[in-house]
Amino acid sequence: MKKLYSFSLADRAEAGLLKELLEREGVACLIRNEQLFAALGEIPFLECFPELWVVDDEIWPRAKSLLDNWFKKEEAEAWRCAGCGEELEGQFGSCWKCGKARDA
Ligand SMILES: [Zn+2]
Repeated sequence: MKKLYSFSLADRAEAGLLKELLEREGVACLIRNEQLFAALGEIPFLECFPELWVVDDEIWPRAKSLLDNWFKKEEAEAWRCAGCGEELEGQFGSCWKCGKARDA
């Protein structure tokens, strides 16, 4: 068994979704720490972040590339320029209209 990903505070809600997506691709995986959510407040906060584990080590590289692809897709989603309100496609790092950087 090998750890694939540790979720942060911002993305831990995605843990169940990613597990589902991997299982749909035939990758057996499980989430550790998830059950600790119920005990939040009684244990140190940092111990509550879920981890995604792949059951079969040999499948790990495949699971990793699947995961990377999903994250890449997410990053490529359309975004709106904070400077001028123009809607831009995900592959653009800055606004073609006013030149403002995406994460500025
Ligand atoms: Zn703009």
